[in-house]
Amino acid sequence: MNFVAAAGHLATWNGLLANLGYLASVIMFMLAIMRMGKVKTARSGNTLAAVAMALAIVSSFVEMGKINPIYIVAGLIAGGTAGAIMAKRVQMTQMPEMVALLNGFGGLASLLVGIATFAFAAEKGARGTLERMMLMSDQGGWFGAINLCLTVLVGGLTFTGSVIAYLKLAEKMSGKPILLPARHAINIGLIVVSLLLTVLMVWAVGSVGVNWGLLVLIAVLSLVLGITLVIPIGGGDMPVVISLLNSYSGIAGALAGFTIGEPVLVVSGSLVGASGIILTQIMCKAMNRSLGNVMFGGFGADTGTGGGGGKSEYKNVKSTSPEEVAMIMGDAGTMVVVPGYGMAVAQAQHAIRELAKILEAKGVQIRYAVHPVAGRMPGHMNVLLAEANVPYEQLFEMDQINDDFKNTDVVLVIGANDTVNPAAKTDKSSPLYGMPVLNVEEAKTVFTIKRSLGSGFAGVKNELFECANNYMVYGDARKVVEEIIKGLKEA
Ligand code: NDP
Repeated sequence: MNFVAAAGHLATWNGLLANLGYLASVIMFMLAIMRMGKVKTARSGNTLAAVAMALAIVSSFVEMGKINPIYIVAGLIAGGTAGAIMAKRVQMTQMPEMVALLNGFGGLASLLVGIATFAFAAEKGARGTLERMMLMSDQGGWFGAINLCLTVLVGGLTFTGSVIAYLKLAEKMSGKPILLPARHAINIGLIVVSLLLTVLMVWAVGSVGVNWGLLVLIAVLSLVLGITLVIPIGGGDMPVVISLLNSYSGIAGALAGFTIGEPVLVVSGSLVGASGIILTQIMCKAMNRSLGNVMFGGFGADTGTGGGGGKSEYKNVKSTSPEEVAMIMGDAGTMVVVPGYGMAVAQAQHAIRELAKILEAKGVQIRYAVHPVAGRMPGHMNVLLAEANVPYEQLFEMDQINDDFKNTDVVLVIGANDTVNPAAKTDKSSPLYGMPVLNVEEAKTVFTIKRSLGSGFAGVKNELFECANNYMVYGDARKVVEEIIKGLKEA
């Protein structure tokens, strides 16, 4: 049903009910996205979005009326079961790759909707340009035809781009950037040729067979484009790319919505498209990188993610034991916990929560400072800390707490590295220079838990480790925290 037909459709009860359902689901989607913007309400936002999706599906059934829904029900059962199993099995650290895969499915669905719509139009139109066929199939002439080609194009590149992102994150292929010679020219060439084929499809060519050929060519080029756009990007940058692909999957969905005349798909796709691009911008800003640098910079080709910052580069690094940490923490008035990627790897969030409870019972004020790009996906630390039931009011964003480190007795850096590197503020030659970081070195005492002096994602030396008030506590984050807890209990 398209927008014009919608008016006529209102005359029927089914149409009226379905449209009311769509309207309610669209409003619920918007409210859900708003709720997901805050830690406190994110969980209920997610539930609301799931309910909105269920309502949209039910509304589609109502709208279909007497059409046999057997294929749709079979698809729902298969997809729903696969989704439930994946969600149950996925580890928190595997979340970015699962999101990548799901984005890819969104893109593939749009591509298939585009091809199915063409098949429908071709069957009705029998002969003639795509534009004429689309008119005959009631999908809006040249506008519908262009939409159809763009749905296939964006859907296809989202699909293969997301699959590459998944393979890199899951370490099923090398996370290093693969830099093809003349890659920019290849990508621009693929985009230009696809757009020319779209023009040809809509205005120039006659027979259904030729149009089929052109559409298949657009689909193939889009699938290749997804690969060539994403393989030059380093594994560490994948979360930003996933956020961008998420936006693309929304755009593909919105285009598919126009193609089949489904307003709810247009609105929900646009919401995903817009929020994905906003999130991409936020992440780039927090990493002090431009989107162009992430997409075309080949970041990590030389340094890798974890190279550099070896022990030999450091001088006067002090270390201490969990027992000594326990003694100093027990006497502190205020403590700020700064989690990073290492906390996720070690799954140390529950141990941290237990440590915090013990210290609170001793009268220590506990807060958590969360850097916007700590970990490997947006909100990574928030999700883990929420899982460990850390009270929301103890979570502080960087801007809220950064001026307060100087008044803090103890900072516990747990598996964070780049996000607490003071070189980002002082060393113009550092790749991190300009990235906003947490001012942990301003506290009276800093304890940094990690397994070695190895570098973080950016592959650079961390000046914090040489600060006079910093003490390294070497070991796996969870084990170290458990030993600190033991020390506190025995004291
Ligand atoms: P980093 O990646 O800078 O450092 C993580 C540290 O964790 C490593 O140095 C490692 O040191 C330590 N570590 C790993 N495993 C363990 C373990 N089991 N126990 C203890 N420590 C461990 O982490 P940050 O969170 O500070 O910074 C995130 C980085 O990722 C930033 O550079 C950001 O730009 C980038 N990034 C973030 C994205 C996001 O969306 N959040 C997206 C893309 C990139 P060692 O090996 O010595 O133990």
